[in-house]
Amino acid sequence: MNDQRWQAVASRDGSLDGAFVFGVSSTGIFCRPSCPAKRPRRENVSFFDDPLQAERAGYRACLRCRPKAVDGNPQSALVRAICRYIEQHIDDHLTLALLAKEFRRSPFHLQRTFKSVLGVSPKAYIDACRFRQVKQNLQAGHSVTTALYAAGYGSSSRLYERTAMQLGMTPEKYRRGAVAAVVRYSIVRDTIAGSPLGRILIAATDQGICAIQFGDSDQQLVQGLMREFPFAVRRRDDAAMSQWRENLSRLIQGQETNPALPLDIRATAFQRRVWECLKKIPRGETRSYSAVAKKIGMPKATRAVARACATNPVAIAIPCHRVVRQDGGLGGYRWGVDRKEQLLALEKTAGI
Ligand SMILES: [Zn+2]
Repeated sequence: MNDQRWQAVASRDGSLDGAFVFGVSSTGIFCRPSCPAKRPRRENVSFFDDPLQAERAGYRACLRCRPKAVDGNPQSALVRAICRYIEQHIDDHLTLALLAKEFRRSPFHLQRTFKSVLGVSPKAYIDACRFRQVKQNLQAGHSVTTALYAAGYGSSSRLYERTAMQLGMTPEKYRRGAVAAVVRYSIVRDTIAGSPLGRILIAATDQGICAIQFGDSDQQLVQGLMREFPFAVRRRDDAAMSQWRENLSRLIQGQETNPALPLDIRATAFQRRVWECLKKIPRGETRSYSAVAKKIGMPKATRAVARACATNPVAIAIPCHRVVRQDGGLGGYRWGVDRKEQLLALEKTAGI
């Protein structure tokens, strides 16, 4: 153990400041490992767990490295050293017992010190580091399993769920949002002369349309796109999108006989079933949420159907505006009930 400490002194390893101090018998001074002063001879060096012990043994604190100074506060410095250790060994199977052994404290003492300085247990800190690692791995486009393993997690579903909770979404979904696709977009104003539908953002990847969103301003639309594809390269490209814009306008006005815009959308199995069902509702007609639920063979899933409608990423192309309440009420619409009413009115009159 003292060999390790000597190594740290010899290399002026600042990460171990606070983990111990060393006294130099020839000078009567004690220092922290990173002290810039000339290295003493090994045989003159003794090691102490903290400044207090060194003082009890008759040593005085070094004026250069100030081993008792505030940022060298033995407790916070020890905790800092533990934090660095955790970060560097996040792939290992870190336990309190292992940390206690590494830092030559009892598990109880280490836990108490750590908590008193940081306010969280070492375990909570390890979790936070792993979680950060998982996020980074997912953002880099690694698969969920790889990301979890690389962050020191096993493949247990409990951890998957906990990560999902912390991410606010499933890791798989997070990864998809993270994949750095190029998303080109364009904003359509005045879709239909005199219609107050507002502006429409239409965005596509190389695979197809990935978003059709209504908004009141360009800024609102662009921010919405950013939220939906936080890690994608987003590029406004009116020229590249001109054909899609044209198709969308025709679709809204009912001039498009084949409304099958190629879509590049991510969906759960359930969402996909609902959305496929919505695509079959003919223009000019509506269905109730419960009718859709029945149609997909899940009559009790009315609320889940409503949620699937509310999360539709491509307005019009998936005509979620054609789903209304059974009592004749319009129900909700992701882009505002007014727009839903507009679209339904338009579909009843135009494109005949
Ligand atoms: Zn010193």
